[in-house]
Order: sequence, then C-alpha cells, then structure tokens
Amino acid sequence: MKLVTYEINEKVAIGLLTDDQMVRPLQATELHYCQTESLPCSMLELLEQGSQATDTLQKIFSKLDETGPKISLDQVNLLAPIPRPRKNIFCIGKNYVEHALEFEKTKDVTAAVPKVPVIFSKPPTCVVGTGAIVKNHKHMTSQIDYEVELAVVIGKTASNVAKENAYEYIFGYTVMNDVSARDLQKAHAQWIMGKGPDTFAPLGPCLVHKSSIPDPHNLSIRCWINGELRQNANTKDMVFDIPNLIATLSSVITLEPGDIIATGTPAGVGVGFTPPKFLQPGDEMRCEIEKIGVLVNTIEK
Ligand code: MG
Repeated sequence: MKLVTYEINEKVAIGLLTDDQMVRPLQATELHYCQTESLPCSMLELLEQGSQATDTLQKIFSKLDETGPKISLDQVNLLAPIPRPRKNIFCIGKNYVEHALEFEKTKDVTAAVPKVPVIFSKPPTCVVGTGAIVKNHKHMTSQIDYEVELAVVIGKTASNVAKENAYEYIFGYTVMNDVSARDLQKAHAQWIMGKGPDTFAPLGPCLVHKSSIPDPHNLSIRCWINGELRQNANTKDMVFDIPNLIATLSSVITLEPGDIIATGTPAGVGVGFTPPKFLQPGDEMRCEIEKIGVLVNTIEK
C-alpha cells in the first residue's frame, strides 16, 4: 500500500498510489470526509491516529471501489509524503561499512566503522518532494553531495522500545536523499550546518505501509547522477539495523507518529571519488529503493 501527498488545483490532499500509477484520493470516500473525526486530511493527521491509522486506511480503501475517482499521476504535483515533519529528521551517519571507509578515506574497518550509531538531524525546512529543485546555496558551499537512504516513518509513540518489539512502532518506509554540503560539514564540528540547508532532504515519492515491505533489510538501494549509476547496494548491509536504531533513539528520546529516521547511505557518494565528484548546478539526482519508488531532484542552476 503506497500513500502519497499531492497538490492539485492549489489544494493539498492524500491518496493511494495504485500499481497503474493512478492516485485514488482519500477524500473521495465520503462527501464530508474532512469534517468527520476519524478520517484524516493530511499524512500527519493519519499517522497521529497511532495504532488506529492502519484500521482507518483499511476502512477508507474498502470504500474505494472501481467506479470511484482516479487521477493520473501526471495530473498532480507530488509533494513529500510528510511535507513538513513536526520535528527534525533523525539521521544515521556511517551506517554502511563501505561508505564509512570511503568517508574516512581508510581501509581500516576498526577505525572507520562506528561502535555505536552516529546520530545527527536535519530540520523540517529541509524537506521537499520528488521533482523539486534543491537549492545550490552557492554563497556558502561548492561541495554538494548526494546520499540515497531508506527512511523509516514512526507510526506509534515509542519510548524505551526493545529491539524485538521495534517493528510494532513503524508505520512505513520512504526514500530520502540526505543532500550534504561537505565543506560545511567539515568546517563545523556538528554536522547540522552541512546537512541542514533548506531543501537538503528530498523525501518520497510515496510512503509505503510496512505491510508491503515485510523485510526492510533486503532492498536494492541505488542512486544515479545524470544517468550514471553511483550508489548500488542493499539495505542488508547496514551496520546498525532498524530495530537497533529505534531501540537506541527511543532509550532517551520519545519517538512520535510521523517522526522520520534516515538509516544512512551506502558507498558511492561524490566525496568518496578521487578527485571528488561534487554536484553541479543542473545535475539530476535519481534515488531508487526497491518496493518504494524513485525520488528525482535537480540542483538549482
Ligand atoms: Mg546520510
């Protein structure tokens, strides 16, 4: 089950994305849909129903018969599934061995690969959807880089969660591009300046319910720049798996519905090449994760 947030006729709505690339608007299920207490108008409203969200979806989609409204995907402007998260996105650094090695420019696994998760964050103002322009911030950076990542969306309030129960707290998955300004990341001891510029978290194209991805640790994850394949890995290669990340974060921070955890990027980022292959104005970034979809963004000219 793939959910999208989209804009049509200057209105933002949520819907189901079908296999034939049609959007089924949730609002079509009832005439006074948004006035009713149980039916959500936005992805965050849906997620904030916690455990009820899945029931709500099933109830809604049982009413979407074949005769109901369908909109072709190219008629809508897809936004990020959660266009403005309520809080910073939690991000994991150096969570694939080969990427940790290329980032540190070493072959020493013991030195480069973290013993505990490296955690930083990106502000909500980073988020844009597929198709959006990523600002070049050229007054501040000349080293913009791409990082395709599997992002986990929390569906239920999580505090002190044990690893074995972690999947209960997940609503679903999406793709994030952890766009990074390497010069700013290096200049500031904390990474938020390099990771947090406006538009540096393309998210989407859709939010896939966890029922459609029984094993998030066996997904092909790839990124192309201007058609050239740069990152090509599998989510099975994470150093710290998703249950570990949820257990670690929730040990001291309450995770809430709609919170996002970006689980780190595999090898092949621009800074890993000699010489580095940083992004240039007009470059196209195409991030794809199996069973989720393709997130495409272009660097501002
Ligand atoms: Mg990253």
